[in-house]
Amino acid sequence: MAATAVDLSRETHLAGGRLIVDLAALAANWRDLDKRSGDATTAAVVKGNGYGTGLEAASRALAAAGCHTFFVALPDEGLGVRATVPTATIYVLDGLLAGATEQYAAADLRPVLSSVPEIEEWSAYRRAGGSTQAALHVDTGMNRLGLSVADVAGLAEERALESLGLMLVMSHLACADLQDHAHNHQQLARFHEVRGMVPDVPASIANSAGVFLGADYHLDLVRPGIALFGGEAVQGIANPMHNVVTLEARVLQVRDASHAETVGYGATESLDRASQLAIAAVGYADGYPRHASSSNDVTGGRAWINGHSAPIVGRISMDLIALDVTDIPGTKRGDWVELFGHNIPVDEVAELAGTIGYELLTRLGHRHHRIYLEAR
Ligand SMILES: *Cc1c(COP(=O)(O)O)cnc(C)c1O
Repeated sequence: MAATAVDLSRETHLAGGRLIVDLAALAANWRDLDKRSGDATTAAVVKGNGYGTGLEAASRALAAAGCHTFFVALPDEGLGVRATVPTATIYVLDGLLAGATEQYAAADLRPVLSSVPEIEEWSAYRRAGGSTQAALHVDTGMNRLGLSVADVAGLAEERALESLGLMLVMSHLACADLQDHAHNHQQLARFHEVRGMVPDVPASIANSAGVFLGADYHLDLVRPGIALFGGEAVQGIANPMHNVVTLEARVLQVRDASHAETVGYGATESLDRASQLAIAAVGYADGYPRHASSSNDVTGGRAWINGHSAPIVGRISMDLIALDVTDIPGTKRGDWVELFGHNIPVDEVAELAGTIGYELLTRLGHRHHRIYLEAR
């Protein structure tokens, strides 16, 4: 893995936060997952603006690493991938939006069909001579999208699935992040029943966490998302992926505050010693979660400065956070501090805020300056 060197100290721009996306690490993560999943095709899920990294940049880097098959949530996102990777196979997880058949066909977007009305609409398109292909989504225990096993059995019996141009039959695991959860085996067993009803169509059940459940779950194609972007896919094991996204904030000033003074809105944290505070220019308007605030009662998030951990002090504001740098001499105006990245896992911040890395990454907002470290 090698990223082209960008001299970050020479980056001049007017933003308070910068989001550094390591496309070389993204490519390395795809190759790692490809290796872990044996002979299965390794696709990439790039919904949610490429998990916040930028749909086009992520798709381009993944394609260069060898990925041919992409999953998005919405057809609009599919158009973004199509424009970036003209030869890609693109599946739309949210299925066929009502009345949009011609637009899918025009961009060769494959809907992941997941209800009887969608199938009827797609079937009419195919009967009229349409050649765009599709996937079938079967619910095996999540009750989100997907046909029931009984529906698939009925449609198979009516031979209604044969003319849809199905290139993939898939299901989605509800509990793959919990490796011992009984749901995993149950869903896999139910999915195997369905595979018999659509013979000769390649099958897929694994998201990122599913890849880590082992070879039984890899089938013909795996669909990782979060692990590509460096997030934690599986609970309770060390995250083996390379860090892809780093969020940094610019220090606006370093100020002295006295013992017993309070910091920030609500005066929720009072200082137990004379302190130096670095005020940095990222806040909740940038997607940094306000729930990572600190108070006298609750330990909040932290930043990473010059090899040291700097606790957040007081509430996170819309545009600003205060960091205790009393023990980190040399912190100065203009410095960049890490809010998550190599030293502070994104999942640590997410947990403090009562959420998951997925949500943090996809809510990062548009105010950051984005820097892409290109794969070589
Ligand atoms: C989002 C999604 C994925 C990718 O999941 P990760 O946990 O991010 O790997 C795979 N399949 C479906 C159906 C999804 O909605």
